[in-house]
Amino acid sequence: MHVLVNAATSADGKLSSRRREQIAISGPDDFDRVDSLRAESDAVMVGIGTVLADDPHLTVDASSSAARTERGEPPQPARVVADSRARTPPDARIADDAARTYLLASESAPTERVERLEARGVRIIVAGDERVALEPAFDQLAAEGIERVMVEGGGELISSLFEAGLVDELSVFVGPTIIGGRNAPTLADGEGFVEGFPALSLESVERLDDGVVLRWRV
Ligand code: NAP
Repeated sequence: MHVLVNAATSADGKLSSRRREQIAISGPDDFDRVDSLRAESDAVMVGIGTVLADDPHLTVDASSSAARTERGEPPQPARVVADSRARTPPDARIADDAARTYLLASESAPTERVERLEARGVRIIVAGDERVALEPAFDQLAAEGIERVMVEGGGELISSLFEAGLVDELSVFVGPTIIGGRNAPTLADGEGFVEGFPALSLESVERLDDGVVLRWRV
């Protein structure tokens, strides 16, 4: 499986403010770039923190959807949530019928929550006891035909993916603002590394909107 992480950060590396509310960091050209990346992916993934904070839909626009159909692909990439305890609200936009949705849960997810989401058409993949075990969960996604995954955040999920050595590519839009705040989410939160820091190799630098897109290979 190929895993691309894509996110937008402020110039000081924050994904959002200390209130964990979504902040417009990029502009229209970056929205188009993100739409293209989604359209080239089999699935777009976020963590439950992002679902609860932003209620994202994670779909592509009509022209990208038409191009996917022409290529013989489903009109929308699948959506994936890492959500150990199945806290995704059944009326979340990510659980609507615009695209297939997979919820990666752990054994600790309460049955009634899982069943409520299944009733909405969400497909449940269980891996791990307390928290989603990402590698076996990805193996199960691969068995469903998902080969290219684009991860959009947030910082906790991205950090775990780096820790598990599952990231192949990282692209970051760095925008023209300072958000600050020691408790505001950054690109990679979690415990952080003290050794064995993942090494990145810079592939390209592109000026876009009022910021810059950095593309790294891991
Ligand atoms: P997150 O990374 O979206 O979700 C983290 C949660 O995912 C964890 O608390 C955990 O909850 C669940 N999870 C399940 N398995 C996991 C695993 N193996 N490793 C890590 N997490 C796992 O949440 P976040 O870090 O709080 O980020 C949310 C913030 O990021 C919001 O403020 C949002 O606006 C912002 N954001 C910004 C961008 C951007 O590009 N600027 C993009 C996305 C999000 P359980 O244990 O309960 O499952």
